[in-house]
Amino acid sequence: MTITYTLKAIKEFTCIGGDCEYSCCKKWQVQIDPETLDRWRNLVNSPLKDQLLGQTANTMLDGEIITSITKKENGNCYHLNDRGLCKIQIELGAENLPAICNNFPRSHYQSDSTSIQSASLACPEIARLMIENTDTNIFIEGDVNDVNLNHIGNGDDSLENYLDKWSRLVMQATNVPVSVKLYYLGKVINDLNAYAENDELDEKIVTEICNNYQHHLRDILTAVNNKKLDINPVSAGWFWDVIYNFSKKTFTNLSKHYDLVDPVITLNIPSQKKSEQNFKDLYTQVNTLLAETRPLFAELQPGLNQYLKTLFINMGFPWNPIGGNFIASYIKSVFHFASTWYLLALVAQAKGSLEPQDLARVIYHVERDYFHDPKVATTMKKNPALFNIENYLTSLLDLH
Ligand code: SF4
Repeated sequence: MTITYTLKAIKEFTCIGGDCEYSCCKKWQVQIDPETLDRWRNLVNSPLKDQLLGQTANTMLDGEIITSITKKENGNCYHLNDRGLCKIQIELGAENLPAICNNFPRSHYQSDSTSIQSASLACPEIARLMIENTDTNIFIEGDVNDVNLNHIGNGDDSLENYLDKWSRLVMQATNVPVSVKLYYLGKVINDLNAYAENDELDEKIVTEICNNYQHHLRDILTAVNNKKLDINPVSAGWFWDVIYNFSKKTFTNLSKHYDLVDPVITLNIPSQKKSEQNFKDLYTQVNTLLAETRPLFAELQPGLNQYLKTLFINMGFPWNPIGGNFIASYIKSVFHFASTWYLLALVAQAKGSLEPQDLARVIYHVERDYFHDPKVATTMKKNPALFNIENYLTSLLDLH
């Protein structure tokens, strides 16, 4: 049986076109699929035909030729008119748009037993609808409310299904800070991975580790409140240094909207060979920023929870992990989430307040910049230490 989950935001979504603050027709490379190119070549009596076929550019990607629409000097898609509307859609109808334009922001993931209709958070309208949804469930069908976690079912992907249900229950837990959820999810995935590496992972171990999740969340929360979970300032500084470096492009983009001050510049951290003291200083600086701005995040907690849930789903955690690796999916989600939090703290510092539209804006900028920045993937591939959850698990507890 296939269970279908449909993101509520995608059901409510309508493209706002010319009113969109960060349109997908701006700055992006719009690829043209071969079927669309054929349709354009076969157009009859269309004054647009020469423009469509003339305004294309070829690039090589992994030995393959990719054809895209050329951009104007301001980075807009060539076919975007002065009112921010698409000439292809107006003159030839949506059926002549490249597939990528027709589908965005929708995405579809399919495993043996699960079908997920989700959406890219790089679309401002999806980001807005997603954080405005106040229901704990983010899907229309197949929501997880009351499932038995005592037993792992049969089938090839049964472990993924079990962890999928478990992680949604964890993320739906109320009155638990997102930091505690992130810490707990990371810790469990790390523990499961250690058993899997030794070929010792069986149903008994998985259910033992994952059961009683409310109890574990409460224990972690108590330990945090009693300051019994120590943060190592060197590894926490290292974690925030990674986030700082990954977020530089988005920081520049957000600076067009806000008067942001970059706290790391004031610390004068060297870009190469940082010392332990440099990392400690960075941690102190970021920690101060997070602590000072924390009260301004209070109203945004429901939206941040929705973001975290959608992010994990879109990263395939844990139901369809990147390259079969739960840790990779978890870490990618964590980097997006921590970058959003860090940049939002800078926005809070600059504005003295935070509103839902600030959260939506930071989310779609982070999602778009990370998605299109090959440096993130390259850095992660080159540095295996980035895949070691233990290196920064407790650093996440500085988020609340
Ligand atoms: S980013 Fe979303 S709302 Fe904006 S133009 Fe694209 S599809 Fe429409």
